[in-house]
Amino acid sequence: MKTQDIFIKLKEHGYKITPQRQEIINLLAQENRHITVEDIHGQIAARFPNLSVDTVYRNVGILERLNMLDKTDFGDGKGRYKLVGKGGHRHHLICLGCGCSEEVDFCPLDYLDKQQIKDKKFSIERHSFEIFGYCAQCLKKEE
Ligand SMILES: [Zn+2]
Ligand SMILES: [Zn+2]
Repeated sequence: MKTQDIFIKLKEHGYKITPQRQEIINLLAQENRHITVEDIHGQIAARFPNLSVDTVYRNVGILERLNMLDKTDFGDGKGRYKLVGKGGHRHHLICLGCGCSEEVDFCPLDYLDKQQIKDKKFSIERHSFEIFGYCAQCLKKEE
């Protein structure tokens, strides 16, 4: 997702584009990994000494609710975020070594027998699916 499109969507939902918010979004746009709220705060704190971790949490929450962030958990209980790709939601191959993540352009939901879920009278709103492992570079290092 382009930062410009994110700003437009935020405005549509009545959110102001504050310098802090802009900085958080720019940072997310540069990252090719899923990062934590603490990572974001750590990288911006030097330029915005008054920025609290809570503020970053709030902003990340807003972006997540507007479906602009993909959230995942590496299994350590910490939420990690990455901006979604152009076509909405994306799934990733996530490296447990260096934390890089690569988008895959298929959705496992397409391959599911959705009838079983319909039979339970369950309406699907969203889903998450990530594949964890080691990237080519990390595998090379281990050799
Ligand atoms: Zn790696
Ligand atoms: Zn999907």
